[in-house]
Amino acid sequence: MNLVFAAAPVVTIPVVSGDAFPVRRIYCVGQNYAAHAREMGSDSAREAPFFFTKPAQAILPNHAVMPYPPGTNDLQHEVELVVALGVGGRNIPLDQANAPIFGYAVGLDMTRRDVQQAAKAQGRPWDMSKGFDYSAPCAAITPVSQTGALDNGRIALKVNGATRQCGDIEDMIWKVPEIIHTLSQQVELFPGDLIFTGTPAGVGPVLKGDVVEATIVGLTVLTISIG
Ligand code: MN
Repeated sequence: MNLVFAAAPVVTIPVVSGDAFPVRRIYCVGQNYAAHAREMGSDSAREAPFFFTKPAQAILPNHAVMPYPPGTNDLQHEVELVVALGVGGRNIPLDQANAPIFGYAVGLDMTRRDVQQAAKAQGRPWDMSKGFDYSAPCAAITPVSQTGALDNGRIALKVNGATRQCGDIEDMIWKVPEIIHTLSQQVELFPGDLIFTGTPAGVGPVLKGDVVEATIVGLTVLTISIG
């Protein structure tokens, strides 16, 4: 049976070794740092983590220009630790939940904040505020074999050289193994899945021409500009 048109190419992210990581799904955790939850108006006392998704095609490579998206006047940055899975599974036990990790990267959960606030107010889905084109910039993946399990380290973001976000990944409300354990009870995970693990405080708007630099200790720096 012939395909009626050519299938879309597989989205990939470079691995620091020079290999390519084929992306399957992108899962994102909401409000996973207490200070950010507060700035979003939530008083997040360790409620169960909640998830949303972006399409794999939302990945934007490092050093690219992100086109300012239509339909918003408030495009905002969220720097996040990205966990890349090399193994899948269902109902992954907590004490084995670091095992599926292939590696880590620095990512941005770019957000149409005005659209998200309206969706929240109306009880509508977040897809158009979170899962739009180019909404998931991501730098190269460093294998866990080089880093060990990452459970602490500075995470920060600068816009035009000025620090906007600064935190430590040890301040996550839900740690990476807890996220994988919980998510695997809701969906079957597969190799190629990415998890954006939430952002520290200090989110804010970017404008056309801005240069955004996102860093996590030990990982490849992510730099994009807004076009
Ligand atoms: Mn986020």
